[in-house]
Amino acid sequence: MARSVKTAVIGAGPGGLVAARELRREGHEVTVFEKSTRVGGTWVYDPSTDSDRVAVHGSLYRSLRTNLPRQLMGFLDYPFPGPSESFVDPRAFPAHEEVLAFLEGFGRDFGVLEMVRFGAEVVRVWLARDGGEWSVEWRNDDGSVAEERFEAVVVANGHYSVPRIADIPGIDKWRGEQIHSHNYRIPEPFRDQVVVLIGMSASSFDISREISKVAKEVHITSRAKDTVVGKLDKHDNIWQHKMVKCVHEDCEVEFDDGASLHADCIFYCTGYEYHFPFLETNEFISIEDNRVGPLYKHVFPPAVAPWLSFVGIPNKASFFMTLELQSKWIAQVLSGKVTLSSQETLMASIEAYYQELEHVGQPKHHTHSLHPNEIEYLNWLASEVSLPSIEEWKIQMYHAVIESFKSGIDGFRDDWDTEYWTGKSISAFSKGAR
Ligand code: FAD
Repeated sequence: MARSVKTAVIGAGPGGLVAARELRREGHEVTVFEKSTRVGGTWVYDPSTDSDRVAVHGSLYRSLRTNLPRQLMGFLDYPFPGPSESFVDPRAFPAHEEVLAFLEGFGRDFGVLEMVRFGAEVVRVWLARDGGEWSVEWRNDDGSVAEERFEAVVVANGHYSVPRIADIPGIDKWRGEQIHSHNYRIPEPFRDQVVVLIGMSASSFDISREISKVAKEVHITSRAKDTVVGKLDKHDNIWQHKMVKCVHEDCEVEFDDGASLHADCIFYCTGYEYHFPFLETNEFISIEDNRVGPLYKHVFPPAVAPWLSFVGIPNKASFFMTLELQSKWIAQVLSGKVTLSSQETLMASIEAYYQELEHVGQPKHHTHSLHPNEIEYLNWLASEVSLPSIEEWKIQMYHAVIESFKSGIDGFRDDWDTEYWTGKSISAFSKGAR
């Protein structure tokens, strides 16, 4: 008979929502802890930014549109609404409000909202000495603290809130401004400024174009060996450079390509750190150079599997598909429908994965970056839970969007062949595809 497990889920972003749905479907008893007052996580736009006293969760800028087309932002049996059924924005790559409305609908339609304790910030999770259960301690909005025991904990606290900062020689003496994309909301503060933007991520792409409309100059730096140095085509005030070599007290910035200039602001688009301030589990799992480990398939720490698990650790991935398949796997392993190998076998698999990363020269801090093996990972998860492989149209669409992004063409979202791709997905649905 299937095992029903009393499970705590930490976070009610997309990961926590879909984890809760899958756990409940599998017959588990679920409580979701959410520190804010609503579901949606990252997709709740928060105009405030970090201050000395408060760290905000959200990292969305006001103009943000998805970087995946809407068909890739849904769940298997709960697709993202097509343009004609859209909530607020029918575009192929909609604004963030559309994603939030979708997630709120998901929470409502699957009864997940009733499982959530809002205003409940988990502050401590530890393995109780007496019986192998987890103690979860949380702080309510009114400041009161409570504790409850659970058999299993699923961590879905999100990984886009704690800025990762590049180490730049001379930065301790820098007198200009510094900002991380986590705290960027609108372009106006950069009016007439010279901004040096570090990193070539999706955020850097969008933000550089947006602030260039008000800034005097925008200089993007990249670590990539093949960086083409010079002014960007079709832009009067955006340049590309090699890495920053060093910065000086008087706000001079020197680049590895020999150029130098005076800047007002260093803008970090350098990604985020994993952060689990509530977990007292260092003997089972820890973070080293942004590697959360050991984690079997980015989900289970072998020493305490399956009683502790993580959703949403992989990056450079198709997020919602990953969250959903990981959640199905966790739910079925907990119920006993799917079995995990021995602790030793799981550890050996993790070691083999680390060696493979080393072999291909992938730095440790990119341990959880799936590219270019995103689809392989999704298919592996799908096969674990007896689902067919990812449909061909989704794979094609995913690769097409990565290519558009890599080509660096401004406006790739609006150049997207909406009719062609909508036709592909509709014809797949009418043939009964998931
Ligand atoms: P989150 O959405 O971050 O949710 C985590 C939740 O946990 C939050 O509600 C938080 O309040 C709660 N929480 C945290 N700590 C605690 C605690 N101690 N106790 C209780 N609750 C807690 N993905 C896409 O698929 N497409 C995109 O276009 C896309 N664009 C992005 C753009 C930006 C700028 C960023 C930052 C991310 C983007 N992503 C995108 C990735 C996005 O993070 C994922 O889509 C998704 O939100 C991850 O879901 P999650 O549930 O893992 O984390």
